[in-house]
Amino acid sequence: MRLLLKTRNDVRLFTAVTVAGIVLGTLALHAVMTPRDLLIRTWPVAAAVAAMLAGPLVYILGIRMAEAQRLAQRLSEAVSFDSLTGAQTRDSFHARVAAMARGPMTLIVADIDHFKSVNDRFGHPGGDAALQQVAQRLMNHCRAGDLVARFGGEEFVILLPRTGMSSGLRVAERLRTTIRDTPLRIGARAVQVTASFGVASLTDPRRVELAIRAADAALYRAKEQGRDRVCRGGPDPVPPPAPDAKAQHFHTRLAQTSQSR
Ligand code: GH3
Ligand code: MG
Ligand code: MG
Repeated sequence: MRLLLKTRNDVRLFTAVTVAGIVLGTLALHAVMTPRDLLIRTWPVAAAVAAMLAGPLVYILGIRMAEAQRLAQRLSEAVSFDSLTGAQTRDSFHARVAAMARGPMTLIVADIDHFKSVNDRFGHPGGDAALQQVAQRLMNHCRAGDLVARFGGEEFVILLPRTGMSSGLRVAERLRTTIRDTPLRIGARAVQVTASFGVASLTDPRRVELAIRAADAALYRAKEQGRDRVCRGGPDPVPPPAPDAKAQHFHTRLAQTSQSR
């Protein structure tokens, strides 16, 4: 059981319970070591001295513990969540994927189109506001168990557990239309942005890097074909047995046979 001290009342309760324990312990020791007639006369003083000495020390300890817990919580949030968008960090994404069981999953890589021009038009703070809103849209349109992570600048990786390729493609398509059809608010302006999506399926969480590569290759095709679209990558890619040329051939063949649009 973990002792959580969130508020001053928690600290006061912790102090009261701990001091009561210390006083009872002191009295028990006192009873063992002191003759009965002396004990009857001195126990109130022993209890009072124990409470007066322990009270302030335990209260200060409680405050320090509460501070340490707050800092640990903030540290864990900083490691797990991107401070700009609230999406998961890359490290947190990988840690959560590593803990998942095998099963059908879909991985989506999303990248905002021509984001550089958003920065050029509205400045870096405007670009930041756009990033926050796009991330919010992605997170709002995913289920509670889905992972939405920011992997870099304006690129997001989304993992949908218990989701096959056809459902995953539908989710990606829904995300794409949501981003395109709901203008962002940058200052007083309503700004339309679009994003491109690459989708890959996987069943073994240990192969997530391969799925990311497959989805990335599909995203690259979506960009090449004109952006604001969803392209699918290969199903659960097998690790390339030999040189890169073979892997390239593998991805190119998948690309030719399995484009969604
Ligand atoms: P494409 O459609 O090919 O993806 O074009 P793009 O302009 O979106 O892509 P490019 O990689 O050329 O530019 C990405 C830009 O994103 C450049 C970089 O300054 C900006 N960027 C990266 N991280 C941040 C950030 O945290 N905040 C802001 N405002 N901009 C960022
Ligand atoms: Mg981009
Ligand atoms: Mg990018």
